[in-house]
Amino acid sequence: MGIHFDTSVEFAQLMDCEDELAMFKQQFYFPQHDNRDVIYFCGNSLGLQPKNVEAAINVELQTWRDIAIEGYFKGANPWMYYHEFITPSLAELVGANKNEVTVMNALTVNLHLMMLSFYRPNAQRYKIMMEAGAFPSDQYAVETQVKHYGFGPAEAIIEISPRDGEKIIREEDVLAAIAKHGGSLALVLFGGINYYTGQLFNIESITAAAHKAGAIAGWDLAHVTGNVPMQLHAWDVDFAVWCSYKYLNAGPGAAGGVFVHEKHASDNNTGRMAGWWGNDERIRFKMEKGFIAKPNASGWNVSTTQVFNMVALKASLELFDKAGIEKLRQKSIRLTGYLEFLLNKLTNLSFEIITPSSPVDRGAQLCLYFSEKGKEVHKKMIENGIVVDYREPGVIRVAPVPLYCSYQDVYRFYEIINTIV
Ligand SMILES: *Cc1c(COP(=O)(O)O)cnc(C)c1O
Repeated sequence: MGIHFDTSVEFAQLMDCEDELAMFKQQFYFPQHDNRDVIYFCGNSLGLQPKNVEAAINVELQTWRDIAIEGYFKGANPWMYYHEFITPSLAELVGANKNEVTVMNALTVNLHLMMLSFYRPNAQRYKIMMEAGAFPSDQYAVETQVKHYGFGPAEAIIEISPRDGEKIIREEDVLAAIAKHGGSLALVLFGGINYYTGQLFNIESITAAAHKAGAIAGWDLAHVTGNVPMQLHAWDVDFAVWCSYKYLNAGPGAAGGVFVHEKHASDNNTGRMAGWWGNDERIRFKMEKGFIAKPNASGWNVSTTQVFNMVALKASLELFDKAGIEKLRQKSIRLTGYLEFLLNKLTNLSFEIITPSSPVDRGAQLCLYFSEKGKEVHKKMIENGIVVDYREPGVIRVAPVPLYCSYQDVYRFYEIINTIV
């Protein structure tokens, strides 16, 4: 920050020269367009394939082929503990202790499992608060959970909206609503970054307000993990879930991540729907009656570790370990700021950047709202080798991911848009 951006190509070249993370770009495969790499600003939807994934998958294929069942204990990466090879790196990304993170299933399944543990409604305290316009899968999960306990969604779900004429939700409105619903509120469940606006919520202050009201604070961090560093343990978040195929580059349908604060995870009485992979390993194969949870987040694992859904995640996180999430964030703030600067120079297109302009309130993604022709503009971008996505109504989402996007990518994006529209 404090950088003076300008519109020359030399500026972009200089920034890339000085970027100590620039070499990570070569660690990824890019789709091709007209015999060159596309400009890939869609890592908020599906991260690119790291080049080290193929070899990592081959290692596990070979273990399976050569020693089969023995792979659980004697493979290069014993499958019995495969998720544990991943949790230290994930804990670093979300600011957790190692015992507070696990990997399993996928995001929405994990959201249901966490709600079964932490949404325990009674006649007085049964409401769930979330942001209006939350990701549809989260809306469906919450709707069906409250129905499962016999409550009506219209009464039990409180959605916080932007004020009339505004696109971003004000933090003061969230805090006031939490205080207002106080005694009837069971769970505050927000998306850390809203997928449609790119707004990053203040996880710490909303969590504290939820606790003050006597409610549980849960977070969907699909768009935050690997994008913005967090301190989930210190912020006293109760639980969080995220997927691994967006900023984490673990490929379509990769296993999801879960955080459970150790104050809950170490308590064997915290309710849950259990399976044998959450049971203490030392007694797992005694096949006895009576579930004894591991005293950590992995006590929520249900089924046998999905090794092939985790291999790419493990490989990808090696790159995050090398780059460091704090350094990635510093680059990201500059790169997204530079994109915003250039977008504001465009005179040939009519749109509004609805994502907050302060870096504190956003991650890598900028959302361009078109009151008309958004779909046409999106189509033209795709035809010209720019990969971004479109979300109804009217929003093109643009995410220059700092791990594999360069300042020259941002510049070329600007140049292409200047000529195609
Ligand atoms: C991407 C995303 C999901 C996807 O959930 P899956 O169960 O992995 O399909 C859910 N919620 C949010 C907020 C997302 O951004």
